[in-house]
Amino acid sequence: MKFNTRAIHVGQSPEASTGAVVVPVYQTSTFAQESPGKDKGYDYARTSNPTRQALESCVASLESGKYGLAFSSGMAAEDAVIHLLRQGDEVVCTQGVYSGTYRLFERIFRKQGLEFKWVDTSSPEVVESEITESTKMVWIETPTNPLLKLTDLKALVARARQVGALSVVDNTFATPCFQRPLEFGVDIVLHSTTKYMGGHSDVVGGVVVVNDTELHEQLGFIQNSVGGIPGPWDAWLVLRGIKTLGIRMQRHFSNALAAAQILEDHPKVRRVIYPWLASHPQHELALRQMTGMSGMISLYLDTDLNGTKRFLESLRLFTLAESLGGVESLVEHPAIMTHASLPPEVREQLGIDDALVRLSVGIEDSEDLLEDLDEALKRV
Ligand code: PLP
Repeated sequence: MKFNTRAIHVGQSPEASTGAVVVPVYQTSTFAQESPGKDKGYDYARTSNPTRQALESCVASLESGKYGLAFSSGMAAEDAVIHLLRQGDEVVCTQGVYSGTYRLFERIFRKQGLEFKWVDTSSPEVVESEITESTKMVWIETPTNPLLKLTDLKALVARARQVGALSVVDNTFATPCFQRPLEFGVDIVLHSTTKYMGGHSDVVGGVVVVNDTELHEQLGFIQNSVGGIPGPWDAWLVLRGIKTLGIRMQRHFSNALAAAQILEDHPKVRRVIYPWLASHPQHELALRQMTGMSGMISLYLDTDLNGTKRFLESLRLFTLAESLGGVESLVEHPAIMTHASLPPEVREQLGIDDALVRLSVGIEDSEDLLEDLDEALKRV
């Protein structure tokens, strides 16, 4: 079955007892047993729930994986993965990951005795030299947020395997529609399903997908022990969103590409970052490991903080808000909003300055979005 068919059918056969075509919301915390220890495959809803299980099967299939595990948020999914490690273990991480990931690692797990090494994984030489025999896990975001740098997945997996480290890819920005890291041999893929997977900005969630049975068992044990699971309604909302993932992503892609091309030639814009533009320093790599790009564009305006604020306040269709990946277009200022929790020197090192703006281009009519951007740029 192909991608869109799997998004609609995997894990979602009509319900056996009533024929309900849509997976029901199993709003129950517990399940009846015929005799002690004899149940119908479910005993307690933290451990498993049929609505959540449908979501887990569907996402696993879309990521070309065997097993999916759903969580109450992207951060809960990350927390479960990092719990695979033990005191003293070293994690090599992409510099420029989502700032909540940086906060989780530096402010919570460093205290538990884990070591985090932040490096520029977009450079193959850095990947080669910084991943060493002491590395137990390599944590990648590609494309990164908000600067859309890419990591070469093939080279990364080769190096991680050489030293016996687990490889993890946060695939939130690309989605399995455009990039499937497990097909490159990556061990663990995770998502904030709050973004493109859910797709409608109405639910917070996360998923992890793996191919290895032992890894699945370990992560399932953590999921059940820690309990950061989504309720059945949230699992259902994400599953409903996923049915249209393929067509939404195509539209995000075409709208974003049109906007990126026009912005690139605009006199008030200093630089546009979008992996599908030939001007992106890793455009060739994007063509090699992705089949398209989501609606995420970053741009540096040719102005100062006041000019940037005027642009952000003048937009009418792009709503000024954190988050991304919903059907509606959003805009944000990373330095003041999403990446404010990074220390100022880290922001500076990454290039997150006052003129940087991040767009999450939605699926509205392209002409309206382009007009909105053009009008707001006149105020800069
Ligand atoms: N990973 C990425 C790339 C994100 O952008 C986010 C949130 O913005 C997360 C993980 C965390 O996900 P959540 O907000 O669902 O906890």
